[in-house]
Amino acid sequence: MSGPTKHIDIKSAVKSFGQIHAVGGVSLDVHAGECVALVGPNGAGKSTLFKLILGLVRPTAGAITILGQKPDRPSFEHVRKFIGFLPEQVLFQGSLTGRETLHFYTRLKGESSDRIDSLFQTVELVDAADRRVSTYSKGMRQRLGLAQALIGRPDILLLDEPTSGLDPASRLNFYDIIEAHRAQGTAVLLSSHALTELEARTDRVAILSNGKLVADGSIEALKSSLALGSKIKVKAAPAQMRQLSQRFANRCDPKNFLNGVAVLSCPQDEKLSLLKGLMESGIPFEGIEIIEPSLEQVFASLTNGGGNG
Ligand code: ATP
Repeated sequence: MSGPTKHIDIKSAVKSFGQIHAVGGVSLDVHAGECVALVGPNGAGKSTLFKLILGLVRPTAGAITILGQKPDRPSFEHVRKFIGFLPEQVLFQGSLTGRETLHFYTRLKGESSDRIDSLFQTVELVDAADRRVSTYSKGMRQRLGLAQALIGRPDILLLDEPTSGLDPASRLNFYDIIEAHRAQGTAVLLSSHALTELEARTDRVAILSNGKLVADGSIEALKSSLALGSKIKVKAAPAQMRQLSQRFANRCDPKNFLNGVAVLSCPQDEKLSLLKGLMESGIPFEGIEIIEPSLEQVFASLTNGGGNG
């Protein structure tokens, strides 16, 4: 049985601007119904990769196939209407209202304007629909940008830092919208610097550093491949802290016993046996907290500041 359709298929893509190798041999797939986060330091090549997918810049080398077509061919014009794109900098004509703006983009995509009201509902901008865009806040412009990207129920959503400028409630709404589109088979590729919020929201994370893909996998798989350890924080009274430091000397650094909190470290697969050891030690403690490695740690250990920016 064949798997889900590969909507984005990038093989060894290179894009150089003179001496700058913005994208240096990247291979990346995104299937229908998948949500992949593209992360990387400033200048790592994320926006350039989006431009390659859209056919806005031509690859120096490599093969890019989007919905079965090559973006650098004239025939790709017909494919573009199936791609929703939210650029990093959303620039709208301030003198137009939000509704006029969406009408403009709807016509540009050759779509019917029947869904404009529902798009305003989706991005929670109904009350501002008939106000001039010049009166919108940054977050409101960002939400209008998202509505623009959603016109025509695209097969691919390319979102360049979509949550920048959004307040926490709007961020939650944003990920609900993405989830609904993903469930209908849209392939979503989004770039973000907000690593914490990606953890529970994306299927895979692709990490770019200096134009190269240094990781591509589920967050869980990345964490275990890097052997990033877990930490267990134990809160205890001073006398018990001494007992803990003696009993678990191999699990901690003395400087990790501070202010009544001991931080014990272990490989992820030894976490349960360490917990069991703590319970069976008979040392009375006041509280326990397990801290798993974060996406920030994965990112830091893989990129090491690798941007061209
Ligand atoms: P950020 O997180 O800051 O948005 P990014 O990962 O999106 O960064 P890109 O905008 O793709 O990074 O830039 C990658 C590199 O390519 C940078 O060094 C940038 O200066 C360079 N670059 C991008 N576009 C051009 C261009 N048109 N001409 C010359 N250099 C460019």
